[in-house]
Amino acid sequence: MVEMDLRHVNRFLDVIERDIAPLTKKGVAMGSKVFGAAVLRASDLSLVLAETNHEAMSPLWHGEMWTIKMFYELQDRPAAEECVFLSTHQPCCLCASALAWAGFRKVVYLFGYESTEEDFNIPHDRRMIRELFNCEAPRPDNAYFSWCSLGDAVAVLSNDAPERCRLDSIVRLYAQLSDTYQRGEKLMVLK
Ligand SMILES: [Zn+2]
Repeated sequence: MVEMDLRHVNRFLDVIERDIAPLTKKGVAMGSKVFGAAVLRASDLSLVLAETNHEAMSPLWHGEMWTIKMFYELQDRPAAEECVFLSTHQPCCLCASALAWAGFRKVVYLFGYESTEEDFNIPHDRRMIRELFNCEAPRPDNAYFSWCSLGDAVAVLSNDAPERCRLDSIVRLYAQLSDTYQRGEKLMVLK
């Protein structure tokens, strides 16, 4: 199981806001999607690296795929099983498999598949899992990793919890990034 007390919730929100989102803003400006990820040491939640989607270079460089690639290029890195893999969005079937192959055992994501489809207007994650594997989502506790939703962890907090405000501001930030990406995509289609 992935531990998720208030310290974890705040630290994960910190990393998304301060480490991942600024990289994603640059990536979106170059035509890449809004998905980003980070690797943290499970012991003290210190950051190993944060990265973002590089779709502009290759359709395979999803945020998680690129992060895994860059993690394994680090000369001095902790073992994957000693880390928490933080993803802004619930990993798609490509990335979920890559996380299993890469040895990560604990995965946390913010936006779920439903949000990716409805709020971010990207239906492929859900559609591909249904079409290829005839299911709705990978099992949250499988033989390779367990994953859990940061959004769900905030949703169970009281209405006046400061973490709710923090999450709202991150949701607004990603709505802006998504809008920029979607407008850019339409402009490219029109060319
Ligand atoms: Zn993916």
